[in-house]
Amino acid sequence: MSGISRLGEMIDGARARLCFAARMTALLTLTLMAAPAHSQEPETTVFTGGMLISGLSVPPLHDATIVVQGERIVAVGPTAEVAIPENARIIDTSGRTMMPGLIDAHAHLFMVGYGSEAHWFEWLEGEGSHYSIEQIMELSGYQMLMSGVTGAIDLGGNAEESVSVRNRINAGGIAGPRLQVSGPLVTRRAFGGFPDAASAVLSSPREGVEIVNRLHRIGVDVIKLHAGLTREDYFAMVEAAHANGMKVHAHLYDEPALRNAIDAGVDVFQHVGSAGMPTYSDEIVKEVAGTFRPIVLTAAHRSWIYPDTVAFPGRLEDPAIKALFPEDIWAAVQHSFEEWPSEGYFARIDRQIAYRSPQVKQWIASNAVMGVGTDSGTPMNFNHDGLIREMKVLVDEGMSPLEVIRDTTRVNAQIMGMRDIGTIEPGKYADIIVVPGDPVYAELNNLFSVQVVMKGGVLYKLDGEPTIPLPF
Ligand SMILES: [Zn+2]
Ligand SMILES: [Zn+2]
Repeated sequence: MSGISRLGEMIDGARARLCFAARMTALLTLTLMAAPAHSQEPETTVFTGGMLISGLSVPPLHDATIVVQGERIVAVGPTAEVAIPENARIIDTSGRTMMPGLIDAHAHLFMVGYGSEAHWFEWLEGEGSHYSIEQIMELSGYQMLMSGVTGAIDLGGNAEESVSVRNRINAGGIAGPRLQVSGPLVTRRAFGGFPDAASAVLSSPREGVEIVNRLHRIGVDVIKLHAGLTREDYFAMVEAAHANGMKVHAHLYDEPALRNAIDAGVDVFQHVGSAGMPTYSDEIVKEVAGTFRPIVLTAAHRSWIYPDTVAFPGRLEDPAIKALFPEDIWAAVQHSFEEWPSEGYFARIDRQIAYRSPQVKQWIASNAVMGVGTDSGTPMNFNHDGLIREMKVLVDEGMSPLEVIRDTTRVNAQIMGMRDIGTIEPGKYADIIVVPGDPVYAELNNLFSVQVVMKGGVLYKLDGEPTIPLPF
């Protein structure tokens, strides 16, 4: 068991007595136990020498320095102008780039990229597996964090497990991104491939309101409206969610559903532009852009993953991904790929490949506010590389690398409503990653090999190696 896991148990016991700040300081102290003796002052880490992409709409800064004290950034600027505190741990980033931790605005931590959603949950419940859904979420959180994802919104899973994993990550007990969770898909028809607990089924707007209120009591952060809902359902549940202070994310492909979601006040339009149809009408695209409410395309899953995998089947055996799996889960995942081209998940792939590029280009041209999300965990859409693949699609379809980084960091932080993350500025949480070379020139390809990951002042990856082992 890792130092962080042990610490988590200690923290669980002492939670009532410790305030959040004290817990985080304790975490930092224990995590760095292997480091040389330190004073009672908060640990200080300095990143210096490399290029800085701050997440703000400004050009990169060359030869920059970031000073981190405890869990927060305390100074940022040109190296010549930033005082480096004595006894600080120095991370030389020369020839590399420092940037905010990435945020995934649409993840599913209870899946890991298995070739078929339904068969994944059958395997998980069968005799070959001794893992709980909560453990899988823990594994996915670890995979994401080691890939530079320090924040995520989980949009569809089991409510109790989702809330528990979020709380354990926040308490420092396990390694994972800062999480917001929706719990189940709220829908008129249960989603076949998922466990029963991952759908909340209503047959009237009134039942929908009861579901929203129940999920609020369980402690979810946001509501995920799924398919088949009536106009009245959207209105009733958005009102109930907002009354509880929760944002509503809606799973939307077709235009009538989007129409209802816009009118009802849905906060985030998920999957819009994800190759469900040829293109949207100009009127509705303009209208969405004019609401300044964000869309999250989730473009890369399915319609880019499929042809990418045909072109290079070896991506399914990538050792960098294998290293983030326990052996038995990896073996099951490999087995699941044997018949992948015929899986139902890809039943409409020819049309989706035809629609993908016109749709993504249409939404980029609209200048709608755009978050970046993956639907990660879906078939062959690994938690390790899903977000980088999504970012690359946006670059390939016409956005600049800096725009895509901005949307994956600052804009996604705004979608989460978290003011303390998403950019590298004094006062913010120290959620920082370091990548080789220049991601602007490399069109984000070097994000596949994140070398340093810090979240809240704690180093989870250094010199390309995790500082803590796989959770199991
Ligand atoms: Zn969805
Ligand atoms: Zn999803």
